[in-house]
Amino acid sequence: MFVERKVKDFINIDPLQTGGRLTEDAKRMLLEWGDGYSVCDFCTGDLHAIKNPPIADFVEELANFLGCDIARVTHGAREGKFMVMHSLAKKDGVVVVDSNAHYTTYVSAERAGLKVVEVENTGYPEYKVVEERFEDAIREGKRRGEVVLAVLTYPDGNYGNLPNVKAVVEICHDRGVSVLLNCAYSVGRMKVKADELGVDFVVGSGHKSMASSGPVGVLGLFEDYAKLVLRRSERFKNKEVELLGCSVRGVPLMTLMASFDHVRERVKVWDEEVKKANWFVKEFESLGFELLGEKPHRHDLLHFKTDKLYEISKRVKRGGYFLYDELKKRRIHGVKPGRTKSIKLSTYMVPRDDLKKVLEAFEEILEKYSAKGSP
Ligand SMILES: *Cc1c(COP(=O)(O)O)cnc(C)c1O
Repeated sequence: MFVERKVKDFINIDPLQTGGRLTEDAKRMLLEWGDGYSVCDFCTGDLHAIKNPPIADFVEELANFLGCDIARVTHGAREGKFMVMHSLAKKDGVVVVDSNAHYTTYVSAERAGLKVVEVENTGYPEYKVVEERFEDAIREGKRRGEVVLAVLTYPDGNYGNLPNVKAVVEICHDRGVSVLLNCAYSVGRMKVKADELGVDFVVGSGHKSMASSGPVGVLGLFEDYAKLVLRRSERFKNKEVELLGCSVRGVPLMTLMASFDHVRERVKVWDEEVKKANWFVKEFESLGFELLGEKPHRHDLLHFKTDKLYEISKRVKRGGYFLYDELKKRRIHGVKPGRTKSIKLSTYMVPRDDLKKVLEAFEEILEKYSAKGSP
């Protein structure tokens, strides 16, 4: 069975998808290495040590890219978080997380048998992480058990806020708590160096931000924790337990490798992407919408409060789906069907001309439904 993806030539502003679009090299890799286990042609027992294809070299360069001693390829950001939490887990263990954390942070903690204590954000309209509140959260965590890890989301997937990592690291390290930085939305888009930021672990997502087909992700760490997190099986000496021996033993890894040069280059022009995002914010707000999250914004993930669209949805036959229909007609993909109270979109690597078409589309849609003026 062949299934066509009907939206593949649309203007894509789906935050989940703008950073995961494949490079031409990666597309070619899909066919070349698509057969099952083909990456294992010359394996001697450890995926990360394979020389042909050059996975070992890639993993070394990846560690360098992340500003870490050691890197591992995982199935995604969540698998990296789970590996670390599972390795550090203890009875009555607690993880401290910012309240903008992704659901996978909570689920990872749950799977690892850890309790979660949250650090509140500032609420509407900016929803900022208050770095100092990590102090209280760690104190609360210590009342409830032993704090084994803090997780900071950088940025979060709801507002695209980038908290002050160094401030959080200082608070956590002073209290003997290690920090994992969740960079699903940043590694591969902007420069992230774990050593410069002072964090103990960093995770990234290949399909979210590294121009790869998933599932694939990255984990960076340092020698001190490698013995624990990358411990080997007692029975199978070259198999790392947390990876169940080998992680991404297939073509997603080859797309990650194929796009790596491109990704290393594109993080250098991140400032341009941020400028473009802020230009879009200004234009979009002039239509009567309001950006949620940090202002000025420092990321391409944009969340707008869109009361005007919600008002329309209340009086049209298709309800909330009217917006999706109208955007589809204009070959624009990425706003969640049914959603109108607030919408999320990303400008990442979307050409300005296409973004202008998106702005025009929203302008037209607002006009069309105001002209009809139904009660
Ligand atoms: C998308 C996302 C994830 C999940 O990434 P996977 O690689 O699919 O596990 C985790 N955290 C944040 C903040 C995200 O936006």
